[in-house]
Amino acid sequence: MTDTAAPATSRSIVTEIPGPKSRALLERKAAAVAQGIPHQLPVFIAEAHDAIITDVDGNRFIDLGCGIGVTTIGHTNDEVVAAVREQVGLLTHSLFGTTPYEPYVRVAELLAELTPGDHAKKSFFVNSGSEAVENGVKIARRATGRRAVAVVEHGYHGRTNLTMTMNFKPAPYATGMGPLASDIFHAPGSYPLRDGLDGAAAAKRTQWYLEKHVGAADLACLVIEPIQGEGGFIVPADGYLPLMQEWCTANGVVMIADEVQSGVCRTGTTFASEQFGWVPDMVLSAKGIAGGMPIAGVTGRAEIMDAVHTGGIGGTFGGNPVSCAAAVAVLEQVTSKDLNAQARRVEAVLRPLLEELAASRPEIAEVRGKGAMLAIELVDPETGEPIPTGPISAAAGLEGVLVLTAGTDYNVLRFLPSLAITDEQLREAIEVIGRALSAR
Ligand SMILES: *Cc1c(COP(=O)(O)O)cnc(C)c1O
Repeated sequence: MTDTAAPATSRSIVTEIPGPKSRALLERKAAAVAQGIPHQLPVFIAEAHDAIITDVDGNRFIDLGCGIGVTTIGHTNDEVVAAVREQVGLLTHSLFGTTPYEPYVRVAELLAELTPGDHAKKSFFVNSGSEAVENGVKIARRATGRRAVAVVEHGYHGRTNLTMTMNFKPAPYATGMGPLASDIFHAPGSYPLRDGLDGAAAAKRTQWYLEKHVGAADLACLVIEPIQGEGGFIVPADGYLPLMQEWCTANGVVMIADEVQSGVCRTGTTFASEQFGWVPDMVLSAKGIAGGMPIAGVTGRAEIMDAVHTGGIGGTFGGNPVSCAAAVAVLEQVTSKDLNAQARRVEAVLRPLLEELAASRPEIAEVRGKGAMLAIELVDPETGEPIPTGPISAAAGLEGVLVLTAGTDYNVLRFLPSLAITDEQLREAIEVIGRALSAR
């Protein structure tokens, strides 16, 4: 595949992987960077545009990962780059809590419009998804005066002390790094492939668990990803989320949608909650919201958000002006470029390709997800044991396709392509993955 003449819109492997420049950088990394920071593909990236990333040796990869769902709008999106360039020369930092600036307010206004529900909403901004979850919990506790926090099995919420306690899996996120936070309860959720329950039955099971094991009167919030990301793109049964919201409302519990991975046009609606008819009390956004710039939003019912006293929330870098400008550039394209239609186009091309693959490969137990957030789960049809997807992802990487793994049992391949990916790039990428699966 030494195809140097190919246009920069296709993959092109021109050296062994890793190439000589990446190998030299990997040595420097090993010497200088903490080993707790891994890498999935052993190459260093020099530049990227839309769905193609180029490494320091000139190899080009089709990116089905988007830095874990961050560059949803495409790498170096023109509008984002222009907005960042302009803002960085005007104001790089002033701390919104001392001397405010307009782009922060504009992002809050856009999120009030774009998040589910037409109730009054307010937002504030932090630097990462984990921090958004932390703050969502703080605000819910302040608003309710209650201590307990509920999450569901297979969830992932981050790497801070509170959020690593909220994760379903301690490994690798919390191993040996306790003590963990208190008052966090992991309830059963909805995982149709494994539990076989419909939405009503799954909701009843969750509610029973919370009532008996936690006590609704002590519960401040229930935090759920509408489609679970790290857990393996688990789509809850229809009805589950709205029934849980009804139960939360009836019991004075704040129900929080962790849309850090599923939000901002990833699934074909601006927020994935909409796909289930769920209007959450609070919506957390991060990853895809600013085309690669670090910012995370906490958006909630105005009365819940305003329950926190002045000075009770904030942070030095949160809602940085350059990140806000990037977020405005992304959120304005939601309607101007009809990004949700792009996510549905990705699904219209990708889902049939995956289903075709599944028809010939009995180890694909399920094709699931929505929009540009699709996955396959691999299970040995004879033993029922999960099949690890790491080797398949590694093999695809050598052929110029970056695809991420997921799943509590590491047996899911997740597809999180940019909305700028072309139909042709999708077809080519799945061809490579099909070969990697056959060679397994
Ligand atoms: C990635 C992720 C987080 C944590 O976000 P960071 O920016 O890595 O701190 C939280 N929740 C979900 C659903 C995520 O996918």
